[in-house]
Amino acid sequence: MKDTLKIQNHEIYISDTSVRTLASECSTPLYIYDLPALKQRMAEFKDHFVSNTLKTHVIYASKAFSCLAMNQLVSQFGFSLDVVSGGELYTALQSNFDLSRVYFHGNNKSDDELNMAIELGVGTIVVDNLMEAKRLVRFCENPKHKIHVLLRVNPGIEAHTHKYIQTAFIDSKFGISTLNTDEIKAVIDTIQTNSNLQFDGFHAHIGSQIFELDAFKAEIEKICQFVQEFQNQTQIQVRTLDFGGGFGVRYTDEDQPVEIALVCKTIVSEAEKQIAAYELSVEEICIEPGRSIIAEAGYQLYTIGDLKQTPNRNYIFVDGGMTDNIRPVLYQADYDFDIATNADAPKTKTVCIAGKCCESGDLLAENTLVQPYQTNDLLLVSSTGAYGYSMASNYNKLAIPSVVFVDHGKIIPIIKRQTYQDLIQRENLIDQDLFSL
Ligand SMILES: *Cc1c(COP(=O)(O)O)cnc(C)c1O
Repeated sequence: MKDTLKIQNHEIYISDTSVRTLASECSTPLYIYDLPALKQRMAEFKDHFVSNTLKTHVIYASKAFSCLAMNQLVSQFGFSLDVVSGGELYTALQSNFDLSRVYFHGNNKSDDELNMAIELGVGTIVVDNLMEAKRLVRFCENPKHKIHVLLRVNPGIEAHTHKYIQTAFIDSKFGISTLNTDEIKAVIDTIQTNSNLQFDGFHAHIGSQIFELDAFKAEIEKICQFVQEFQNQTQIQVRTLDFGGGFGVRYTDEDQPVEIALVCKTIVSEAEKQIAAYELSVEEICIEPGRSIIAEAGYQLYTIGDLKQTPNRNYIFVDGGMTDNIRPVLYQADYDFDIATNADAPKTKTVCIAGKCCESGDLLAENTLVQPYQTNDLLLVSSTGAYGYSMASNYNKLAIPSVVFVDHGKIIPIIKRQTYQDLIQRENLIDQDLFSL
């Protein structure tokens, strides 16, 4: 159990709010964010990603958890925002986020999405490929402001992580390999034919849930070396480098992430060092944390329903499942589980925690240890704040649960649970005659 949690009368409290209160006031399943913990993590990034010689920007990768309230918090901290779709951009707009601080990513932005970004005055577009650059140049005839452009490159660093969430191998669908300088030059030449666009530099993102600081150091060194060779060859000036996100977090005791303060300091000092060593004209560096901002502050609360014993398993059935957190099924992701209403007992029970979806693979944990439990107890899953709600689905027409912030005993609703009506809202009943045989 996390040390930010407290136990009183056998029951877990998140920021002074008891799980029973949360369940009775908000019902389960429920997504919960510990607001003080979240703010503390954001403050660590703000305080430590700083440099005396370079401008620094923390860009929150909103795909990890995108909603109006989260964007407001990001804005409050003075961070920028990374969006990867028209939907995330629209969410930024509706949260009154300063769109000049938005970075628009993605490997296949549609014409509509590019035009929307241009019309709304998005600050920076991170171009993925030559075809996109050509479309951008065509569409960008009369923008509100000059649009900054970064080009996503792939430095070919292999981060040690699950292969499905590794993005920077040489055949990645993302960006252009740094070995392919001709194509990189062609993209920048294309961008520079339009005076409404300003090429600023390069972006890379080497993977996710990365624990080795050496991977980021290698990335920085490789990119700086590439930029030097590229500048010498082409005389193109590079003022911005964006090193992406991917900083590891603690899901279970097996994960031993480096403290965020140290991650930030290491990236800054390595960038300062390499930018000086390669004599680059870079003035500004960025990072794009998603998971490492939001994951550990998040929890999911379920009510335990029926129990079942099979020859080899003790099943606990919960009132949600892969629809509200697909990560265990998608990546075999592990979490820490607590019987939140019997939390001070030792974990002596080996269980299989199953969701309610019609899919045998719908397990939150195949084999995990929890405290003794009975039906109607509450089950708390820790570190679920990233890629849980944002990957939720309506499979089996389950409603997506609500999301709340808790702050020293106060419950702040930020997303309402879907209703049954929401589930059919966009569906049409059609003329029965169309089916006549
Ligand atoms: C997903 C992503 C991030 C954030 O990754 P995390 O592992 O959540 O920190 C940052 N930048 C880009 C381009 C991404 O695709």
